[in-house]
Amino acid sequence: MDKIIVLIGAPGAGKGTQARLLQEREGIPQISTGDMFREMKTLDTPLAREVQEIMKSGKLISDDITYKIVRDRTSRDDCRSGYILDGYPRTAVQAAQLEDLASEQGFEIRAIEVDVPRGELLKRLTGRRNCPVCGEIYNIYSKPPKTDNVCDLHPDTQLNHRADDNEESVSARLETYDEQTKPLIEYYENSGRLSRVDGTGDVEAIYAELKSLI
Ligand code: AMP
Repeated sequence: MDKIIVLIGAPGAGKGTQARLLQEREGIPQISTGDMFREMKTLDTPLAREVQEIMKSGKLISDDITYKIVRDRTSRDDCRSGYILDGYPRTAVQAAQLEDLASEQGFEIRAIEVDVPRGELLKRLTGRRNCPVCGEIYNIYSKPPKTDNVCDLHPDTQLNHRADDNEESVSARLETYDEQTKPLIEYYENSGRLSRVDGTGDVEAIYAELKSLI
């Protein structure tokens, strides 16, 4: 593949769901900065605590800290043929830092916007649940587990509701997206590196469209 796929879209657009499928079926590593920050929850350090606070507020972690974790993660062996960025870059500074990283690693960047109307995002986000063991994503409205609040694949595991998927954090995250991340769509479009998929409807149909672009 030899490229970096950047998935851009509002919180709840389905970037994580699609990136996970691409990883599972195509073997392309999914690099999710949100997941990496959430994993820090188990560390009891001042930085880890600060990260959890910022996430809950719906704001962004600093560009330099985020760059460091992306750089470290993507320098691992499994990323040598390229990777999918899910949730990165989210600011103009991050986009510039990614240009440097990509040329250092010898990859081109392709951005794909996953487009979902605002009205649908809220429902998706507040209904979202995930399995803490395998990461499978459910939604109590549109993709409920077979048994209430239990993972289909891990019957002993209760599903998790993200700390930042409550209404207050969600509206802050959407605002952050509009202000800081949405302008990146134009940035990639202007440099001829943007494609767009319709993120509403069937997960498999969206996947097929995405795959054809990769
Ligand atoms: P996500 O799982 O992608 O929705 O990310 C959850 C939260 O993690 C965000 O609301 C931010 O607080 C933080 N985060 C994730 N990715 C980034 C990033 N690229 N830059 C800064 N903060 C991030």
